Amino acid sequence: MASLRELPPVHKLLVEPRIASLLYELGQQVVSESCRDVLAHWRQGIQEGTIATVDFDLLTRQILLKLNQKQIGHFRETINATGIVLHTNLGRAPLAEAAAKAAYEAGRHYLNLELDLDTGERSSRQNPLRKLLCQLTGAESATVVNNCAAATILTLRALALGREVVVSRGQLIEIGGSFRMPEIMATSGAILKEVGATNITRIGDYEKAVGPQTAALMRVHTSNFRIKGFTQETSMEELVELGNRLQLPVIDDAGSGAIHDPTSYGLAGEPIPQEAIRQGAAVTLFSGDKLLGGPQAGMIAGKKELIQRIEKDPFMRAVRCDKMTLAALERTLQLHLDPEVARREIPVISMLSKTKEELRQKAAGLSEKLMARGLQHDLVEDHAFVGGGTLPEEKLPTWIVRLPQDGAAGEWAKRLRIGTPAVLARIERDRILIDTRTVFDEQIEPLVEALIATRPKESA
Ligand SMILES: *Cc1c(COP(=O)(O)O)cnc(C)c1O
Repeated sequence: MASLRELPPVHKLLVEPRIASLLYELGQQVVSESCRDVLAHWRQGIQEGTIATVDFDLLTRQILLKLNQKQIGHFRETINATGIVLHTNLGRAPLAEAAAKAAYEAGRHYLNLELDLDTGERSSRQNPLRKLLCQLTGAESATVVNNCAAATILTLRALALGREVVVSRGQLIEIGGSFRMPEIMATSGAILKEVGATNITRIGDYEKAVGPQTAALMRVHTSNFRIKGFTQETSMEELVELGNRLQLPVIDDAGSGAIHDPTSYGLAGEPIPQEAIRQGAAVTLFSGDKLLGGPQAGMIAGKKELIQRIEKDPFMRAVRCDKMTLAALERTLQLHLDPEVARREIPVISMLSKTKEELRQKAAGLSEKLMARGLQHDLVEDHAFVGGGTLPEEKLPTWIVRLPQDGAAGEWAKRLRIGTPAVLARIERDRILIDTRTVFDEQIEPLVEALIATRPKESA
């Protein structure tokens, strides 16, 4: 039996060379606290009789493990092996290299966020983004806020506070994580005027609903569901025609903004901001971190006079973007100016654009490495999803590496999740599936190491 007196005091642990080497970075407080936590655990084990001997080296290694976790923090690189390109739990869009660098630079030093370097005078943080967004969407003006939810609330507030906004019943969506159109509308202070039926809304329904209290007509893209069968939606052109006749702006909540024709990579039915603008929407709203492939942000592009009203709303201040977001977004939008560059540099677009043959080759590359390490698996055809509140039904053909069945795929998946880097995979019928579409080239080696290190004993 071990006795409590055999446990070393904290000050003795602090001079252990491996622990001492972390004092500079983490500070005495944090290191001592970790020592005390581990000691408390050992003390309990001794009292309960589950620890028979005090192994100083094991104790030290447990402390080092704890300190290591503190060094890493909660947020860490996660290898996305699910094939879901826009995975909201994994931060949606990974940034282009240039965009990530811009965010880093903006964060690390001072920058001319609201300063015109030519004149030395104050300027708007929105100007550089406004210019790019106008170029890309064809809008007269634009502004950027924290996300599309903020863009929606702000726009409704600025254009329709205390007045009615007409929306089709078929478009009263919930995006998940508390974005529900009726609640968003209530939060904004605008009054929702629902028209039509779930599956059918005609232009006449909108017209009948318009009265002296109406401030706008609104179209909401049904991003994450589709109504099938006997359905009818009113087109943007029809809404704009009605809006023009009655002098009402049409607000377009597009959700995801696909600047380049998404059908070119096999995705149909996604809203294109420049199309809404061309069709005459007064403003179109879309996210920065969906198909645009940039940082979390919400774009508002449209008529100059309306953008000015939106920017003057006091709520604008509460939802304005920070410098790192704006810097990353500026670079992302610049990359979009050339579709070829966008496809090459913006991860979301290049992942979605991969051909089936490219995906087969990538999966085969992983397969070869696993074979060389003796890990059994199959290479099979499958399909992936885009995710992130977009394109619910679009199945993208893909190739996957399917790991062996051991009856406890959940256990293996957990070992993968808690490793460094973390690995997130899909599980289907108790098999782990690895889709390399969403795995960066530089992550393939670490992925192989993680799979080998965590594999169940019997498949070793
Ligand atoms: C995703 C989405 C939103 C919310 O966008 P966030 O940028 O996540 O706030 C709003 N409206 C629609 C139609 C969407 O698809």
